[in-house]
Amino acid sequence: MTPIFKRTKILATIGPKTANPEMIEQLITAGVNGFRLNFSHGDYAERDEQIKWIRAVSTKLAKPVAILQDLQGPKIRLGVLNEDLPVKKGDEITLDFAAAHNGFTLPVQYNLAEKVKTGQPIYIFDGKVRTTVLEITSATAIKVRVENDGVLMSKKGINLPDTNFGGDILTPKDLQDIEYGLHQDIDYVALSFVQSAEDIRHLRQLLVDSGSKAQIVAKIETKAAIADGVMEEIVKATDCVMVARGDLAVEAGAEVVPIVQRQLIELCRQYGKLSIVATQMMASMVDSPEPTRAEVSDVASAVIMGADTVMLSDETANGNYPLETVRAMKKVILYTQERADVVPVTGRVKAEHNQRDAISGAAVKLAEQLRANAIIAETKSGATAANIAMHRPNLPIISVTSQPYVAQQLSLLYATKSYVRPDDAEAGFKLAQQLQTDAYFGEGKTTIVIVSGQQPGVAGGTDTIKVRMIE
Ligand code: PGA
Ligand code: MN
Repeated sequence: MTPIFKRTKILATIGPKTANPEMIEQLITAGVNGFRLNFSHGDYAERDEQIKWIRAVSTKLAKPVAILQDLQGPKIRLGVLNEDLPVKKGDEITLDFAAAHNGFTLPVQYNLAEKVKTGQPIYIFDGKVRTTVLEITSATAIKVRVENDGVLMSKKGINLPDTNFGGDILTPKDLQDIEYGLHQDIDYVALSFVQSAEDIRHLRQLLVDSGSKAQIVAKIETKAAIADGVMEEIVKATDCVMVARGDLAVEAGAEVVPIVQRQLIELCRQYGKLSIVATQMMASMVDSPEPTRAEVSDVASAVIMGADTVMLSDETANGNYPLETVRAMKKVILYTQERADVVPVTGRVKAEHNQRDAISGAAVKLAEQLRANAIIAETKSGATAANIAMHRPNLPIISVTSQPYVAQQLSLLYATKSYVRPDDAEAGFKLAQQLQTDAYFGEGKTTIVIVSGQQPGVAGGTDTIKVRMIE
């Protein structure tokens, strides 16, 4: 029997409604494979606790889970206003980094004067109030014209769809948060408002120089990142992509989001990078115990496109039905994967390691032909498992690694279940025997295909396929 588990993974955002060990345990049990810590909110003391809880629960349940540190990036916000400010089309307001609220002068938490140019659009409050830059009035202030009637409120977000940050997207807060993350057991670092592959290389340098093993997630949510050619360069430079549909819809228009989502998932599959579909997947479940038809369809589409992971934000951070949401998502994933194959990627697979590619592709074909119960990947760095997952097999990938952080990272990878075992030439076979004893594969004979490097423990040296029968 082939064990059935969901192949598309679930990443849940921790927030006020779920930041306690009991909820974390219930979320993992309900199907969560990783947690996003949103560094736009909260302080380090809270983070310390949350990371400890997640690791403790994951150990207790013997289920590796990923922790993703989501950096705020240049997510610029208004400062505190004395009261809500109604504005009318044609009003002129000043956004000042150095001032407090006074009439039509509004504080802003970022020095826009350094980045924006006259004529550029500035969207406030998720695009609800659109403005245009009239002039840079001082070293810290700009004047903008309001383009539509609306209301401005404290701390509302600001989007700069046409502003080029020139590679300077890490704010002082981000740098401090990266520094904090270096001393924490974090698996992924997500970079918000990426504009170019250079932004990714910059973060990579920072992480590598500090000895971090965390993988990088490029959040695609700017117009610059989806420009011709840029998207593919970002995919090549990063380890993982998040289709950050919330800000992307504000910056580029909601109508571009489904196509960008398809393009990104396809590129990720071609290059063997991890893909996460984020934002409003089950948004109505913040207030309702049932998803809408459109939400169910949205999750099913992501599954059929072959996304690695689907993400929950407000639904688990601030929602009234976090567990119901995860369960509903899992139900859709399981139902869909059993009835629809993942769409094939058009075009040639573009990965760089040809031997490893060929071997893992052959292993997947072999396993499907033999109707094997599972593919077992002996993997040091996770690369062998990722390579197998690229082929989107419709059978489980069981990965075995000696590195706990690799098992944690792999928990967001398509169809992959990971185990930590000491380096051993027979690690995969031994694990399979144990799983057979535990009746993981059900009754009867079990066929497995093991993919490994000849040198156990050498990263990326995939060169061996073995077929084993276990009674
Ligand atoms: P955020 O990113 O939730 O950090 O804004 C995701 C998005 O914009 O969709
Ligand atoms: Mn965003």
